[in-house]
Amino acid sequence: MLATAALALSLVVRVYDAAGLAPGDRAAALSVAGAILGETGIAVTWRDGGGCGDAAEQQERSRNDPVFPPEIIIRIVTAPQTPSGSLGFSLVDVVQRAGTLATVYADRVADLARQGDIDVGRLLGRTMAHEVGHLLLGTTRHADSGLMRGTWTTGELRHERPLDWMLRREDILDMRRGLAARARLAKPDRVVAQQGPGTSNLNAEP
Ligand SMILES: [Zn+2]
Repeated sequence: MLATAALALSLVVRVYDAAGLAPGDRAAALSVAGAILGETGIAVTWRDGGGCGDAAEQQERSRNDPVFPPEIIIRIVTAPQTPSGSLGFSLVDVVQRAGTLATVYADRVADLARQGDIDVGRLLGRTMAHEVGHLLLGTTRHADSGLMRGTWTTGELRHERPLDWMLRREDILDMRRGLAARARLAKPDRVVAQQGPGTSNLNAEP
């Protein structure tokens, strides 16, 4: 926990759902992600961006409710037809150390949740918080432990150790710095793809 004297920060996250999440899963995911990110002292306001596929609807929405930096966008989609892969990825500008767009694969999250015997919404929320972490940290690296580690196993999901799903103190401080710096950022002009937490090694124990 941060000291209560820490400066309050806020972040707007727009969620575009092209995967057609169940309302209960979506609500659970936002609650879980908001709670994890709340540990950083960052208050998240979620905005519903609607689906990704309806161009006319998106145009209307962007007219009425334009996206402003330093907002973050998470799009939730169905993964390409590959047998396995990351749960999501973020586009991170490694020079500016920031990013705006994250993608989360709803079907891969659902598959892993089923294998790990945990609630889909909870795993989805953790994945969303992980990707927001990448965007605020502005790094392609993963941590050795905690939410920002690079591989999540079914064993870890089943054991439900709180430390596995929390941000490390250094990540919290860096995310706060990253968010504070976002307002001063020029528009990123160079991005690289960053893989999210992997789904390999599914049967390994933590
Ligand atoms: Zn990652």
